[in-house]
Amino acid sequence: MKQDTKVVTAGRHPELFHGAVNPPVYHASTILFETMAEFESRKPGPGTMFYGRHGTPTTFALEEAIAILEGGAAQCTLYPSGLASCTAVLLAFLEAQSHLLVADCVYGPTRRFCDRVLTRFGVEVTYFDPAIGGAIETMFKANTKAVFLESPGSLTFEIQDVPEIAAVARRHGAVTILDNTWATPLFFKSLEKGVDVSVQAATKYIVGHSDAMLGVATSNADAAETMRRGALEIGFCAGPDDVYLAQRGLRTMAVRMRRHQETATELATWLARRPEVSRVLYPALPGDPGHALWRRDFTGASGLFGVILKPASTPAVAAMLDGLELFGMGASWGGFESLITPTHPERSRSATLWRPEGPSLRIHAGLEDVDDLKKDLDAGFTRLRTAA
Ligand SMILES: *Cc1c(COP(=O)(O)O)cnc(C)c1O
Repeated sequence: MKQDTKVVTAGRHPELFHGAVNPPVYHASTILFETMAEFESRKPGPGTMFYGRHGTPTTFALEEAIAILEGGAAQCTLYPSGLASCTAVLLAFLEAQSHLLVADCVYGPTRRFCDRVLTRFGVEVTYFDPAIGGAIETMFKANTKAVFLESPGSLTFEIQDVPEIAAVARRHGAVTILDNTWATPLFFKSLEKGVDVSVQAATKYIVGHSDAMLGVATSNADAAETMRRGALEIGFCAGPDDVYLAQRGLRTMAVRMRRHQETATELATWLARRPEVSRVLYPALPGDPGHALWRRDFTGASGLFGVILKPASTPAVAAMLDGLELFGMGASWGGFESLITPTHPERSRSATLWRPEGPSLRIHAGLEDVDDLKKDLDAGFTRLRTAA
């Protein structure tokens, strides 16, 4: 079955729900048992109703769908946010005195969790250059338990050599965890590339409409039990309405992703030629430092990319952004609408220097008409030049 068909069919069981196309929203904490014998022999596990926190048919449907899209993975678990999926997976695989290797370009809140929470529990965290590739071997220690990747990186969009790094990690008995939010399993098959646990902020492209918070993590057979127990033991479960919105959003994700890619590619190409722009950070563009790895490992690019402007004053950038009509300004991305924000990647690096030559922006290309988006940005550049 082709991927687009799987996006539509995976995890759907209308026969279980009186023929309804989508699973109903189960609001449940208590699950009742008929007899003492049934209650006492209950076995919590994936797919079984036991207690609300352990899942319902609403959550099982989404877990099954994501596991299929991630390439028939052993286990998918849901979390109340994307950040919760990152933190719970890290907690599940680490213990006091463990050593953790983290790409220097990871999502800011993931980094803060490593620095402020994991270190309090005696985990040693080392950041590495996202371009390190197989040379990561020299950073492994006897107690290295996990490697955390995010490819491309948040804000700076460096592609990592995931297969190479995962192969080294495996040789050293460490798990590889990848934040796959940008590409989604539609454009990057984490587990096939050697990753043990693939995490996504479903808040972004899976939900796709900027109206729910949700995280998902999917693992291969070896990591399945540790990952699932890690989520249960910490008490994480996702709200039924948000899970419903995610499975609803998922059904149109393949179509949306293609359009996000098309518009982002056109905007990125157009921006790269603008006199006000120094560089565009989008691995799908030929000439991007990550382009060769992106072509080798990915089957597409999503709608999120970075722009570094030529030197400009803060008031000039503010004049550009404040007057935009179609680009909203706000955290998150992956919805149907275009967004733009100023970014400051240089504030959260330690293994590598990030010295942008001008102000940094992050753009999410939404589903609007690309010519309208260009007009909006063009007017923004006029304000930038006039204010400068
Ligand atoms: C947004 C994001 C997260 C966190 O997701 P939330 O649902 O906002 O908690 C994690 N990783 C990446 C790469 C993200 O962009």
